[in-house]
Amino acid sequence: MEEIGHLDGRARAALGARAAEAARRLAGQGIEAVALTWVDVGGITRTKTVPIGRLEHAAAWGVGMSPVFDAYLVDDSIAPGRHVGGPVGDLRLHPDLDRLVPLAALPGWAHAPAFRYAQDGTAHPLDTRALLHREMARLAGGGWSVRAAFEIEWAVSDGEGDGFSPACHGPAYGMTRVSELSGYLRDLLAALRATGVSVDQLHPEYAAGQYEVSVAAEDPLGAADTAVLVRESIRAVSMEHGLAASFSPKVEADSVGNGMHVHLSLWRDGKVNMMTGGDGPHGLSPAGESFAAGILERLPALLAVCAPSVASYLRLVPSHWAGAFACWGLENREAALRLVTGADGERATAANLEVKCIDGAANPYLALAAVLAAGRAGIAAEAALPDPVTVDPASIDADERAARGIAALPSSLGASVAAFEADAVLRDALGEVVADTVATVRRGEIALLDGASPEEVAATVRWRH
Ligand code: GLU
Ligand code: MG
Repeated sequence: MEEIGHLDGRARAALGARAAEAARRLAGQGIEAVALTWVDVGGITRTKTVPIGRLEHAAAWGVGMSPVFDAYLVDDSIAPGRHVGGPVGDLRLHPDLDRLVPLAALPGWAHAPAFRYAQDGTAHPLDTRALLHREMARLAGGGWSVRAAFEIEWAVSDGEGDGFSPACHGPAYGMTRVSELSGYLRDLLAALRATGVSVDQLHPEYAAGQYEVSVAAEDPLGAADTAVLVRESIRAVSMEHGLAASFSPKVEADSVGNGMHVHLSLWRDGKVNMMTGGDGPHGLSPAGESFAAGILERLPALLAVCAPSVASYLRLVPSHWAGAFACWGLENREAALRLVTGADGERATAANLEVKCIDGAANPYLALAAVLAAGRAGIAAEAALPDPVTVDPASIDADERAARGIAALPSSLGASVAAFEADAVLRDALGEVVADTVATVRRGEIALLDGASPEEVAATVRWRH
């Protein structure tokens, strides 16, 4: 797999030519503008947009943007860090032409996730898309690839103002909720299809006003791009219907939250799924087991990027299907890692590992890069999994849990950040600039929300992601 290279004159010319061709095609389909998006360290999708006639220039030379946004907190205030946070500097957003698509939910608009380069054509160290790409390349160096898909949960409100008023009232998973908002859900599916997103299923979820959509697996960068695209499609279709979508980890303080679980399968030479067909527990191959064990071992530190908000810890509580315990189990929805084997007969393609402790405030690129780095470290160490857990870990007596090594995951963002800062493997994989900025931004949010009640935390975060 190619590294994200230096943008020299020849590369710029080639990108410009490709973009000119794409722009002609899109203009013919009535596209007027392209949204170039990237996701900041705090998990908020930010953008600069260009009219379709400027796409060629944007592809070759980029669109200027301040590097400061990676130090933004959830309320758009700034946490000045060692590497980022001041008013000086510029980086360039370059549309990834491989992922340029009409954004059917916003008629006349196209979407392209951006790579971020410095003015001298080198990849910007805080470009989390490039970081994920790099992590995929490291895996590829060992003959490994990963297929991934994010599940998107959201809660839909029909209220005025900043409060949350569920737009549907039927029971959890109830068909009533489909009937109540059938036009909205149909328009969403149509928009996703027209955008080229391959939807597996859509269903009403547990919490008030909550739904979920799941999509087909792709390579990790594609999966993270699709997560952004799906969320922006949901947001736009919701607005079109006079509704508002919240992806917050905790929409209401006393309810079940929004997860953004990721499903992963490790493949050898792109051909053999390591999550099945082996002699390990539940058919895991040795590499599949080590990959899972590497992730399991690092979960407390991973939460600094997978559960990155103060609100995340209102969600990550036992018996809410959020995965609050560092353990794994076959089809166990209370384990942070759930092994999914699929039906007899389709395991070779379907078997995967679900990481449940990721939520809707996570930057999907950053979270996935860190999870893959943890899995890669597990493969390198030939790590082994402990025994699987077959019940809700909260139902096991605390002494027995301790004896079996089943630990509760950190219950605060501060504890996750401390674990992250102590984890040399993750810091090294993400690089010093990213690792330092993650810690700075998390500490900034902790200070921002210090002393806030759960209701105040939920209200602050509700409409931000
Ligand atoms: N909404 C739950 C969460 O916070 C997940 C429910 C499910 O397992 O799909 O992660
Ligand atoms: Mg769900």
